[in-house]
Amino acid sequence: MRCRVLVVGAGPAGGDLARQLAARGEDVVLVERLPDLRRAAFSSAALPLDALDRFGLPASVVAHRWSSWELLGPGEDRRSWQGGVPQGVVLDFGALREWLVGEAQRWGARVWLGHRALACHQEADGLHTVLRRGDGGRLEVHSDWVIDATGQERSLLGDPPAGGSGAESLVSGVGLEWLVQVPSACWQRWSDRLAFCLGSDWVAQGYGWVFPMQAPRLKLGVCRLLDPSRDQPPLGGVLERLIERLLAPAERQAMAVLDRHGGLIRSSIRRREPHRRGRLVGLGDAVSTANLLGGEGIRHALMSSRVLAPLLLEELRHPPRGSCVDRYPLELGRALGWRWSLSGRLARRTWLGLHGAAADQRLGALLTSLEQEGASALSDLLFGYRFERYGIRALPYLLGLR
Ligand SMILES: Cc1cc2nc3c(=O)[nH]c(=O)nc-3n(C[C@H](O)[C@H](O)[C@H](O)COP(=O)(O)OP(=O)(O)OC[C@H]3O[C@@H](n4cnc5c(N)ncnc54)[C@H](O)[C@@H]3O)c2cc1C
Repeated sequence: MRCRVLVVGAGPAGGDLARQLAARGEDVVLVERLPDLRRAAFSSAALPLDALDRFGLPASVVAHRWSSWELLGPGEDRRSWQGGVPQGVVLDFGALREWLVGEAQRWGARVWLGHRALACHQEADGLHTVLRRGDGGRLEVHSDWVIDATGQERSLLGDPPAGGSGAESLVSGVGLEWLVQVPSACWQRWSDRLAFCLGSDWVAQGYGWVFPMQAPRLKLGVCRLLDPSRDQPPLGGVLERLIERLLAPAERQAMAVLDRHGGLIRSSIRRREPHRRGRLVGLGDAVSTANLLGGEGIRHALMSSRVLAPLLLEELRHPPRGSCVDRYPLELGRALGWRWSLSGRLARRTWLGLHGAAADQRLGALLTSLEQEGASALSDLLFGYRFERYGIRALPYLLGLR
């Protein structure tokens, strides 16, 4: 089988790139190992409102809107910031993937679900990628370009090299989330807000959350950074204790767990890893676009496709002497911006250091200093990474100097 561009992985990054290339008439094949894109919808998928417009996402992929923030902890502290107007959305992650892939298909991309890419190698006439179909059969695809959009697994590109130039170690976070159905009075209580549980007695070296989905559903989850130097208790027990603290006994009894999912987020901090090997190019989480501070990667994955698409199109249409795709790492770094980069560095320090009373006290002091802010300022801080706004007050804390 031949095509010009083979995109492997139908997450936000791969789905979006396939739809953009197909919309401009390119010959694209998109392969995804999941047979059903609604399954394994592992992402909590909270986004700020402007991301919907920026990436042209329709209402059909939105599960619910939120207008306030609530931060619980450290300990029994509770702080909320009321926005009044919508600040963001929680997406239905399965619906997002399905919509992107449907769009790619409508523009003419060939989409093969239930196909896993096993290996990819360069030969004289292009790239040869070996796929395994759901029925166990093998298939070989010959293409001019292959895009590794397989998320943090980096199935084709592999992890960054451990030593030498371009060496970058990956920082890993792990998350576990339940999609639950609760009594409607309980759902109402959480329905207008993104709620986070912070402090080491909630989740040491991480945080917990409650996000509203379509009535009367909620997403309840916990995540933390992996720290090989510490004994970290299993996340299942941490999530069960969080639910016990947040929901009344009658609410827990009436609660039905509809889905349990989770996954890893792995990113390098400096993002200096190679973004390609010849004509095999990484996209989204496969080149560390996920930000570990808020465990957030959907809009950054979409951004990576917005940066790569025009470069690849230029390359496909008017093959230049030097490769346009050479500009990709630099342009992606610029698009993510210096704030992204700073927040990646802060993530490691903030989360790994969050264990014990002293860390909780520092966190409590920071949250107190944010109390006079409005909900939109908090969104700017947590989604816009605008730490400098808090200047000498927050930066030293965030940088671990206090
Ligand atoms: C628990 C958790 C909660 C999160 N919450 C949020 C959040 O609230 N907001 C946010 O913005 N981000 C969140 N993220 C991060 C976000 O989901 C990712 O950053 C984003 O999905 C990355 O998109 P991607 O397309 O690069 O990769 P992915 O979404 O991981 O997509 C990769 C795709 O490739 C497929 N694949 C893998 N290997 C192969 C192979 N060999 N052959 C074929 N297909 C393959 C996979 O099945 C998958 O569909 C969360 C992540 C986790 C784990």
